[in-house]
Amino acid sequence: MSLTNAPRPLRSVLIANRGEIACRVMRTARRLGLRTIAVYSDADANARHVREADEAVRLGPAPARESYLDIDKVIAAAQRSGADAIHPGYGFLSENADFVAACEAAGIIFVGPPASAIAAMGDKASAKARMFKAGVPLVPGYHGEAQEDELLREEAGKIGYPVLLKASAGGGGKGMRVVESDREFQAALDGCRRESRAAFGDERMLIEKYLTQPRHVEVQVFCDSQGNGVYLFERDCSVQRRHQKVLEEAPAPDLPPVLRQQMGEAAVRAAQEIGYVGAGTVEFLLDAAAETAQESGSPFFFMEMNTRLQVEHPVTEMITGEDLVEWQLRVAAGLPLPKSQDALTLTGHAIEARLYAEDPDNDFLPATGTLERFGLDLNAGDLTSDRVRLDSGVEAGDDVSMHYDPMLAKLIVHGEDRGQALAEMDRALAALDVSGVTTNRRFLQRLVTHPDFIAARLDTRFIEHHHNALFASEPVSNAEFACAALVALDQLDRASDERSPWERRDGWRLNAPQHVRLAFAEAEGAPPIPVTATRSASQSTWQLSVDRDGEQHLEGRLQRLDGDAVAITLDGHRRRLLAHTDPTLDGETIILTAAGFESRLIWRRSDRVDHLPHEVEARLTASMHGTVVALLVEPGQTVEKGTPLVVVEAMKMEHTLSAPAAGAVEAFHFKVGDAVAQGDELLAFATADATEGV
Ligand code: ADP
Repeated sequence: MSLTNAPRPLRSVLIANRGEIACRVMRTARRLGLRTIAVYSDADANARHVREADEAVRLGPAPARESYLDIDKVIAAAQRSGADAIHPGYGFLSENADFVAACEAAGIIFVGPPASAIAAMGDKASAKARMFKAGVPLVPGYHGEAQEDELLREEAGKIGYPVLLKASAGGGGKGMRVVESDREFQAALDGCRRESRAAFGDERMLIEKYLTQPRHVEVQVFCDSQGNGVYLFERDCSVQRRHQKVLEEAPAPDLPPVLRQQMGEAAVRAAQEIGYVGAGTVEFLLDAAAETAQESGSPFFFMEMNTRLQVEHPVTEMITGEDLVEWQLRVAAGLPLPKSQDALTLTGHAIEARLYAEDPDNDFLPATGTLERFGLDLNAGDLTSDRVRLDSGVEAGDDVSMHYDPMLAKLIVHGEDRGQALAEMDRALAALDVSGVTTNRRFLQRLVTHPDFIAARLDTRFIEHHHNALFASEPVSNAEFACAALVALDQLDRASDERSPWERRDGWRLNAPQHVRLAFAEAEGAPPIPVTATRSASQSTWQLSVDRDGEQHLEGRLQRLDGDAVAITLDGHRRRLLAHTDPTLDGETIILTAAGFESRLIWRRSDRVDHLPHEVEARLTASMHGTVVALLVEPGQTVEKGTPLVVVEAMKMEHTLSAPAAGAVEAFHFKVGDAVAQGDELLAFATADATEGV
């Protein structure tokens, strides 16, 4: 049944959100024939979600409180644009019961659960009480109403240290603290209360046994208004930084099918207990080994339910082949769930990586700026679109401001099994072409190639435990300098080709520099390292000398492949890489990526010495075997730029070489009828302006 003649007809939807999730929701809405309406703050007037929507309505100034979080403004925008429904995305107003009530009052369909279900789960303490009644296993702890300091301390003692203090009203990892011993309890309690008051205007706390090595495993559930409920399997989101997810995958590695079913059924029970409708996620901690598990008889414990679509929903879509936004819209229109539990299947393995504008080496400090480049080069990475998905809310040229969440995009891959998905993710990360803003891409590469991640030895403190390996700054090798030099040399060649359009790339190379001195720095302000390059007679390879604590010589060549892909051969070792450049203050950053690898060196163009003195003369050389068929000028003759000089026949075609600039032919090195080999210098030519070069 179409959405237009469903019990609650849907013809249009307003997306009360921004960034990747707004774009993602609109994609499905458009496919289902709905009119899409975006909302925006002044900072987002030209953002991608606004550009992609059929209509867009301004909410207000940049701060979220005055725009995306302002209930009255969002409702007014929906009324003004005649939206039948509002999809809240995640974050912002998605779990705000007042907002749902305001939608209901305005006669607008809220794509999500009823206000009562949000309220039931909004408070962690009362949610736990409800779940206890529904027979869902809980982490041992205290979630009572009495909040006297001394009572809480006694409860903590009963639970046994370490314990976790959590703000009842909390979310996003705020107002949460691990307490190791009784001595630390009071200070931690005071700290949590302060944080919770500031963030949520509420200081009620609950206490849980702190599990030291749990996995975060969450179940995707879906319920319709007819009372049906299903689970769409689980996701493992154990790799977190500061209690925020970084990598997510589905299914959870090594989860026994029986446990999958138990967790799935417990999650559906949890949802039905609160009269849930729509997409929801029930989060569990999983720790079969813990003492707690043995005592309680369950290896998994309810943590909380997120009453909305999650950031990481695409991994579930990849393994089930279902579009969860379509399910949401159908359920919102009053239609039943598209599939029953028995009809749902789990295929292959999917992994998602969150690309953040942040600097992992600087305590994950959010980064801002203008995205010079942004995209995924599927060809270069040998990737296919059915296995790799980039959900993003930005495009090249967009500004990344400090007003909102620093997540730029999500990269999602699907493989037949986990091993294949991991390999795919590694290649996809390398194929991400992003520059202009610092991102966590290199950090993600280290994560997905870490042996313990590959072996699925996961727990929520993975990043903490592997800190040294994940944050290690790798020493830059001489080979990296040589690779950067080859990219720079290729750019110089291209530039010289552009300046002399009469020069054919495929036939002959004229006036190409033969000796070039370049300089590269590891970072802004770091001392430049000289790399001297000498072109070999065959033109295609360079002798490179990296002068860094003594000289190292390498022979290298660069071959351009599709898009930004290049093949670099160094001393006989050929590697496929993606080459990007990013302008910086005093030069250009040359960024080379491959699976599990990223190299960044700043090409200090100001330190470049173009040619060694004897190379000021231009040379005309053959870059293909052939026969000289005509010499068109006399030695010693001065000529204008572009004057034809020599004709060579190669591969059954005649190639005319012309003067690169005004100058004089000093000598021909061959006569008519002579065979010439690739790389042979055909004549000596002196330009009138000897300084004109590369
Ligand atoms: P928030 O709502 O702020 O995100 P959660 O209750 O969902 O807080 O917990 C976030 C993360 O904190 C979990 O994914 C897990 O890594 C960790 N965590 C929560 N409770 C416990 C616990 N009892 N023991 C160990 N780790 C926990």
